[in-house]
Amino acid sequence: MKRIGVLTSGGDAPGMNAAIRAVVRTGIAKGWEVWGVKGGYQGLITGKILPLGARDVGGIMQRGGTILGSARAPEFKTEEGQLKALRTLNEQGIEALVVIGGNGSQTGSGALHKLGFPVVGVASTIDNDLYGSETTIGVDTALNISLEAIDRLKTTASSLQRAFMLEVMGRDCGYLALMSAIAGGAEACVIPEVETDPEDLAQRLRAAYQKGKEHAIVVVAEGAKYNAETLGQYFSSHRERLGFDLRVTILGHVQRGGAPTAYDRILASRLAAGATEALARGEFGVLVGLNQSKITTTPIEVVNSSKKEIDMELFELAKILD
Ligand code: ATP
Repeated sequence: MKRIGVLTSGGDAPGMNAAIRAVVRTGIAKGWEVWGVKGGYQGLITGKILPLGARDVGGIMQRGGTILGSARAPEFKTEEGQLKALRTLNEQGIEALVVIGGNGSQTGSGALHKLGFPVVGVASTIDNDLYGSETTIGVDTALNISLEAIDRLKTTASSLQRAFMLEVMGRDCGYLALMSAIAGGAEACVIPEVETDPEDLAQRLRAAYQKGKEHAIVVVAEGAKYNAETLGQYFSSHRERLGFDLRVTILGHVQRGGAPTAYDRILASRLAAGATEALARGEFGVLVGLNQSKITTTPIEVVNSSKKEIDMELFELAKILD
């Protein structure tokens, strides 16, 4: 193999730059040229691709986002779009591709694999909803951002008789919300995987004050049926009866920003190095992930046809700990 490509796709995740850096430097160490695709699959379709040297990826590790840019590329979901992407790869002499991204991105890498192109995925999404890796690039940083918000809310919540709700990201997966609730010591947690009755939630928050707590914080996942908006409306329309105020904070894209933690930088470096190792072995059509502290590979078809389940024991733990 002489030349490989690398792209970042879908939602950006802190640590993606460390992954790009590691693909470039481990690829060069193997004697390959490494080319970067700008703007995810969209860049493959339009031919935005350039060679990357070891120095081009210097000083990027500590930066959030991705130097290659990412994009939602609906055209790539069509066969026509995929064939255009394939044409770019062939024209530029790219012999294999590393795709750094989450669920949608790895469905895309599965499509390229089916078309016979050598591809390896790297597990990267703050949502931690990707099968084949116990944790993914960006999760640790996103969790730490939630924690900072919870800690700050606690300071202000303890001075006033109010309940606070923090909505965190995660799409349809409650992992970030659940872990934020456990690590932040929230009084309640609302996730898509568990049905929540707003009356029960109000009861729990009231009980927190009755127990003498100085604050009542609920962490809610953006994908839950009752998210910040719907719960906020419910609480404000029943305010008199419930007897307290509920203030809503939505983290939104703040969740993704900022410098990646040490954990994410190391994870990204290891997974990306695992990806070039897999390419060197001729192991294509796999996702590189972390399982039981080891770098592993899982066939892309298995990744794309399986659902990562949340550990319900952790949900029970969160309830006991509050
Ligand atoms: P995150 O969940 O962290 O936002 P993601 O990788 O799941 O990351 P998506 O927006 O779902 O993000 O997908 C990223 C890109 O992957 C899409 O813009 C599209 O180009 C490609 N993709 C998504 N679904 C498919 C599909 N079914 N077939 C081919 N390509 C796809």
